[in-house]
Amino acid sequence: MEPIVIELGIGSGPPALIAGLFGAVIGSFLNVCIVRWPAGQSVVRPRSRCPKCEYQLTWYDNVPVVSWLFLGGKCRSCRTPIGRLYPVVELAVGLIWAWMAWRQGLSLEALNGALFLTILLGIAMTDAREYLIPDEFTIGGTILGLAFAAAGGLSPLVTALIGAAIGFGLLWLVGFLGTWAFKEEAMGGGDIKMMAMVGAFVGWQGVLLTIFMGALTGTLIFLPMALAGRKKQVPFGIFLAVGAAVTYLVGPAVIDWYKTFIGVT
Ligand SMILES: [Zn+2]
Repeated sequence: MEPIVIELGIGSGPPALIAGLFGAVIGSFLNVCIVRWPAGQSVVRPRSRCPKCEYQLTWYDNVPVVSWLFLGGKCRSCRTPIGRLYPVVELAVGLIWAWMAWRQGLSLEALNGALFLTILLGIAMTDAREYLIPDEFTIGGTILGLAFAAAGGLSPLVTALIGAAIGFGLLWLVGFLGTWAFKEEAMGGGDIKMMAMVGAFVGWQGVLLTIFMGALTGTLIFLPMALAGRKKQVPFGIFLAVGAAVTYLVGPAVIDWYKTFIGVT
């Protein structure tokens, strides 16, 4: 039986470096989305300011990772600390984009993967911070996933549409049954729309794998906390995001392995 491996790819350096630098800029924008979308604010206007002293950031205060390090993690004007999450997100998105370009060259597949993983990171962040998954990530992401599929022809588009429908339907059903059984809202609307987005990118088999991994990790981590009475609300979107990312990266290998395992080939 073939072992399951994460494909690192055999790409070349320069495209990965270019994609990584571009990704860091995308990461900087993702930071703005993470903070503003849950608050219902525009990500275009106004320009970024220090929340304390209203100092308006210039382009050289906005260079991903570098500016934060150069300013020692503080506002240039009033020295108020700037969260460490900002450079971490910029670095993470830069690495995601570099890796995808390394794996698949400067291709549509690489862009598809880079955007999908970036959206998942955004979802995990807003769910962790606000217990909220903005529609811009989920509905916007679903449209993006369908558009990428459409670029590959009718059959991939149909696959993506079925994936989105199954993702939405399954989580809606889980939520409906949970609400009926526990007499309180069991599944957030954000999680349901999120799985439509995931389905558009990874198809219905990927949806099943994502929910399985999300439920497994979520239960393992949150059940002890819930039993100890420390956490009431579960940001399930984080676990679904991790599950979806793993599904995107190794899902086809896992599904093949499973088919061999149960003898359906
Ligand atoms: Zn300031």
